[in-house]
Amino acid sequence: MTAVEFISHRPDLQSRVRGAVIEPGAPGWDAATQAFNLSFTQEPMLVAVPEDEVDVVEIVRYAAANGLQVAPQRTGHNAEPLGAMENVILLRTDKLRGVEIDAQRRIARVRAGSKWEEVVPRASNLGLAALHGSTPDVSVAGYSLGGGVGWYARKLGLSTNSVTAIELVTADGRLRRVDHEHDPELFWALRGGGGNFGVVTSLEVQLYAIPEVYAGVLFFPWERSSEVLHAWLDWTRTVPEEITSVGRILQFPPLPELPETLRGGKFAVVEAVFIGAEKDGAKMLEPLRALGPSMDTFAMVPPVGIAELHMDPPEPVPYTGEGMMLGELDPAAIDAFVWAAGPGSGSPLVSAEIRHLGGALARSGDGHGALSAFDASYLTFALGMVFDDETYAANRQQLEVVRKALTPYDTGRQYLNFTEEETDPATFYRAGAYKRLRAVKAAVDPGNVFRANHPIAGA
Ligand SMILES: Cc1cc2nc3c(=O)[nH]c(=O)nc-3n(C[C@H](O)[C@H](O)[C@H](O)COP(=O)(O)OP(=O)(O)OC[C@H]3O[C@@H](n4cnc5c(N)ncnc54)[C@H](O)[C@@H]3O)c2cc1C
Repeated sequence: MTAVEFISHRPDLQSRVRGAVIEPGAPGWDAATQAFNLSFTQEPMLVAVPEDEVDVVEIVRYAAANGLQVAPQRTGHNAEPLGAMENVILLRTDKLRGVEIDAQRRIARVRAGSKWEEVVPRASNLGLAALHGSTPDVSVAGYSLGGGVGWYARKLGLSTNSVTAIELVTADGRLRRVDHEHDPELFWALRGGGGNFGVVTSLEVQLYAIPEVYAGVLFFPWERSSEVLHAWLDWTRTVPEEITSVGRILQFPPLPELPETLRGGKFAVVEAVFIGAEKDGAKMLEPLRALGPSMDTFAMVPPVGIAELHMDPPEPVPYTGEGMMLGELDPAAIDAFVWAAGPGSGSPLVSAEIRHLGGALARSGDGHGALSAFDASYLTFALGMVFDDETYAANRQQLEVVRKALTPYDTGRQYLNFTEEETDPATFYRAGAYKRLRAVKAAVDPGNVFRANHPIAGA
């Protein structure tokens, strides 16, 4: 693109929309391009911040007419795989906010820019639970289009299976509403196919009548990581689908914003949520409690009480991380994990976790979308803080050590939402689903107007 073409796009597009159109170097550029991970910068051609659905239509039409691409984004929690964006308009959905809850039908209608933190407390006040993940700070749209593994997942499955309708602007510049009856093939593709097919402006998600859960964290001294994680693995083989849990090794940095009890601390932890009564939950927890945790936060809480159970950072941070989808684990897997990320490993990683999958997460059902279930039993994610080239290199090296240690258990599949680098998208889906997604992409976006974080090429 020549300088003249580049310069003319901003005023041209700005004359068509109410929202801001920002060019590199202009006031607001740094904030508009900032991703959740502060260790890299995004450099699109322009940023557009639509005020409403009409603006979204105009931006998509403009891009399609001018051979440009549109990358929808809210928080930038999964921005890194987008890579270079020379011809891309980064469409930030920040202003498309609003949540309506129909308590009778147990449905939340959520505009694209709303995060789980805008849904979870309101639903919780009505005795309802939403299928959010470990942080309330991600958009309902991005999280759900990419799958969505949360605290109710073993009982209620991926969040994407609980999406009941989606409104989006497609490459032809039409605002459409798709669901099981209308454009069912596109509805299928969106649920797991991410931002490849249009800019989602609103979606409707199912809520569940769960007024309270028994949930919390057991903290143990870090030196006991091996013993604790072995016990946790044994325990995961016995628990019902009502329990979703994580076994984890934590080395908190000495950051002032952390609570004093955690700041600079090292722990082995088990986090869990039980959908059920306290006495049943306490009974199930007995084998882990018998180990004698140094801190035990389990209690009956309303759904909002688990929004920050996982202790994710509430503000953007510089980090690098990666995950793996694993098959069945044996005790040697825990030995390898602790060897790579626990005491004695010299690991600088802040967190190395294993999430228990299975249950509803393993079952495909009628009416599910492109990513309906996982062919894996456990899911890992490990990350370290990046302050400079040296800390980046040290953490990448350790992530490699973790990956190699767990390679014997690797399913070869990847989880889209946990993949923070450019990856072959075929690894996210079952073979038939990926082929079908490529056909939908070719039909709905033949000119490849939409640039998702994990792009699917049209067949
Ligand atoms: C701290 C942290 C904790 C997390 N915990 C969990 C967890 O527990 N479970 C889990 O499953 N995932 C989790 N994730 C991953 C998270 O779900 C993904 O990063 C997800 O992509 C975030 O969505 P977003 O819209 O906020 O991010 P963004 O980076 O803004 O968007 C990611 C992608 O979603 C698509 N997208 C977003 N909005 C739209 C739209 N309006 N229309 C079309 N496409 C759109 C685009 O392809 C975009 O590139 C976590 C991530 C972090 C950083």
